[in-house]
Amino acid sequence: MRIEKNFSLKDHNTFHLPVRTRWFMEYDNEDELGRILRDEYFQELRSLHIGSGSNLLFVADFNGIIVHSRIRGIRVARETDTEVILRIGAAEPWDDVVRYAVSRGWGGIENLSHIPGEAGAAAVQNIGAYGVELKDVVDSVETFNQLTFEPHTYTVDACQYAYRHSIFKDEQRDPHIVTHLNLRLQKRPVLRLDYTPLRDAIGALASPTVSDVREAVGAIRHSKLPNPERLGNAGSFFMNPLVDRAQFDALRALHPDIPSYPAPDGRVKIPAGWLIERCGFKGLREGEVGVYEHQALIIVNHGHATGDEIALFAERIRRTVSDRFGILLTPEVRYVE
Ligand SMILES: Cc1cc2nc3c(=O)[nH]c(=O)nc-3n(C[C@H](O)[C@H](O)[C@H](O)COP(=O)(O)OP(=O)(O)OC[C@H]3O[C@@H](n4cnc5c(N)ncnc54)[C@H](O)[C@@H]3O)c2cc1C
Repeated sequence: MRIEKNFSLKDHNTFHLPVRTRWFMEYDNEDELGRILRDEYFQELRSLHIGSGSNLLFVADFNGIIVHSRIRGIRVARETDTEVILRIGAAEPWDDVVRYAVSRGWGGIENLSHIPGEAGAAAVQNIGAYGVELKDVVDSVETFNQLTFEPHTYTVDACQYAYRHSIFKDEQRDPHIVTHLNLRLQKRPVLRLDYTPLRDAIGALASPTVSDVREAVGAIRHSKLPNPERLGNAGSFFMNPLVDRAQFDALRALHPDIPSYPAPDGRVKIPAGWLIERCGFKGLREGEVGVYEHQALIIVNHGHATGDEIALFAERIRRTVSDRFGILLTPEVRYVE
């Protein structure tokens, strides 16, 4: 176990904001986690469990306890002729999991290559990219409840997965800490190439493999997304809005080139990046904050921005998009105060 006081979170958030937390605690197993959570002092303070901070915006110093897992490990829990169930520790870097699976030729998560963050957070966030969401391959998620101190295993249905949503995000109702993730992967992969640039990138190959998909995804991501090591960011700042058919038809009458994708329940998904770009924000820089020049959905820290400045800039984008399109964007990034 590791316990630090007045600890800098600069290396624990991909915006690289130099905020501090009153306490920082890391645990190596469920017993240590239980000891932290049962501590009376801990119970009086606010707490937040983080992964690698690639989806967080620290608006100010955190006057409480930041908790982080060090539970690592990837192992085959079960397998058949066609499938393998991988059991993964929550602190395992997500892309190491993808690399592990792809190097063995197992399919299911190759489209999710190179997404920053840890495996536990991937299960919380229902990460998604290029036509695949984590829910498509989750077998079950193992958790530790911070109120009852009980471990629990959620089947994929019990996780209540939806677009960037899971039951684990609902901390008020049931405060779960993810300890392990179990994924169901295919030994004879069926590639998912619905996303046009991905299909175009490997379409010429006679019999593409999961490695080819990983490579193509890497190239696409490299051309579109800033590397947080060089330019602080937290990926897509806003979620893509879902609107009903009538609202979409009204929007299309005004903006005939508006892009869209079908979404569940007859709704329509509109790329938030397109809305933001149309409002003139793409590549705009104001002081230390800006919108990435190649992707309007990404807010970047040019070096010395504060969390507050990023939040104000994001609010300006939201108001402008709302005034122009009547759509109120929802942040995908979690604000922490
Ligand atoms: C350059 C870039 C590109 C990105 N591309 C994508 C993309 O293509 N698709 C996508 O979906 N996302 C993307 N993201 C967002 C981000 O990578 C994901 O949301 C990721 O899953 C966050 O992982 P993390 O470990 O950094 O979690 P954090 O940001 O630290 O935390 C995210 C949330 O998970 C909770 N949490 C973390 N660990 C646990 C745990 N063990 N138990 C319970 N709760 C926990 C936190 O409280 C928080 O609510 C991108 C981000 C960046 C910076």
